[in-house]
Amino acid sequence: MVDLRSLDMASLEQALVSLGQPKFRAKQIFSWLHKSKVRTFDEMANIPKTLIEKLKEQYYVSTCEIERKLCSKIDETVKYLYRLQDGEYIESVVMKYKHGRSICVSTQCGCAMGCKFCASTKNGKRRNLTAGEILDQIYMAERDLSIRISNIVLMGMGEPLDNFDEVVRFLKLVSSPDGANIGMRHISLSTCGLVNKIYDLQKLDLQLTLSISLHAPNDEIRSSMMPINNRYKIAELIEACKDYIKATNRRISFEYSVVKGVNDSDECAYELAHLLHGMLCHVNLIPVNTIEEGGFVRPDMQRIKRFESLLLSKGINTTIRRTLGSDISASCGQLRAKRVEE
Ligand code: SAH
Repeated sequence: MVDLRSLDMASLEQALVSLGQPKFRAKQIFSWLHKSKVRTFDEMANIPKTLIEKLKEQYYVSTCEIERKLCSKIDETVKYLYRLQDGEYIESVVMKYKHGRSICVSTQCGCAMGCKFCASTKNGKRRNLTAGEILDQIYMAERDLSIRISNIVLMGMGEPLDNFDEVVRFLKLVSSPDGANIGMRHISLSTCGLVNKIYDLQKLDLQLTLSISLHAPNDEIRSSMMPINNRYKIAELIEACKDYIKATNRRISFEYSVVKGVNDSDECAYELAHLLHGMLCHVNLIPVNTIEEGGFVRPDMQRIKRFESLLLSKGINTTIRRTLGSDISASCGQLRAKRVEE
């Protein structure tokens, strides 16, 4: 069975023509799936019943069901634990900003990357999500909250570039004017640094924002936090980033989770400034969220502010990420981990 929601317009046309249907049916069905955002075939009112029966033999419509929903009393952040059709769980978070609503979506169920401080990777990767399952996290939240989402960050569970084809399919579908029509400039993709895939992404020349989870200024510290650093050293990663900036003319965002006694010293700040010197980039400092395994402690705000000011003094564009939804453990992986344990 194939996920009908994951098909782009060209594939949908092909599928319908092979069922002996006119091409305009593809446009109608695409509109039901991505504009009306229906959850079942039977809601597609202008599609003949006989065709619907035929479609049901080969296709299904991917959907997420809300298993749990947590609403922050502090800042209107909403976190969903979704149940997929095969019983797996994923998480999404909707955040409210001045410029609109942003959603953080998952791209995999679990994660294979093994970052030491991250809850999503605790039990490894279960499976990739289809493009339709990534989309439905957005559609379901919009429906549930009666809102329009304007920005997307691929920063939920999973490593987007480890699910490359479905993620690219998702990006094309969600930005399609015939669908949700959320422009690439309103989308960020975050990666722990799969260097070969960064080059693949560059070739597609998309206008999205690439975020790199850097978290350390040198190999010794980075390898102690992120196993991916044993595959691709920082020098290779930075080279790929410079290449990406040159080819796309887009600013890269570096994420740096600040951890007490690990990567928060003045020396680290100077080393980081040196590493990123002259690059078209932005550094986003994230006060680390302590997960249950422990070992990664958030420094006090004074230390993080000093780290920021050192970077700024060296000419590096830097901000500290605002913490949202702190009363609902909004950082991804935590809810699913609890549910799986139960
Ligand atoms: N796999 C991708 C995207 C998912 S993680 C990536 O690695 O970028 C989204 C961001 O949250 C990454 O920067 C990740 O390193 C960071 N992160 C994960 N766990 C965290 C924690 N406990 N505290 C702070 N940031 C965390």
